[in-house]
Amino acid sequence: MKVLIKQEECIICGNCSSTCPDVFILEPGESSKITKKYRGKIDSEGEVDNGLIDCVKSAVDSCPVSIISIE
Ligand code: SF4
Repeated sequence: MKVLIKQEECIICGNCSSTCPDVFILEPGESSKITKKYRGKIDSEGEVDNGLIDCVKSAVDSCPVSIISIE
């Protein structure tokens, strides 16, 4: 599945990286990114194993500004 983060709207709350650390990472002072393992050409997009769908869906639900999407 493809996972996208609208980084420009990220409020850096940390919910996604605490909920699903295999896929999302927060570095100090920066918006959420896809972890290196799954990152595509840019760090706001990635191709993630389907086995992690529950993890990613939990992160989608945990985001207070609803900027994580799955395609
Ligand atoms: S949960 Fe949403 S707002 Fe919070 S750090 Fe992750 S992407 Fe940003």
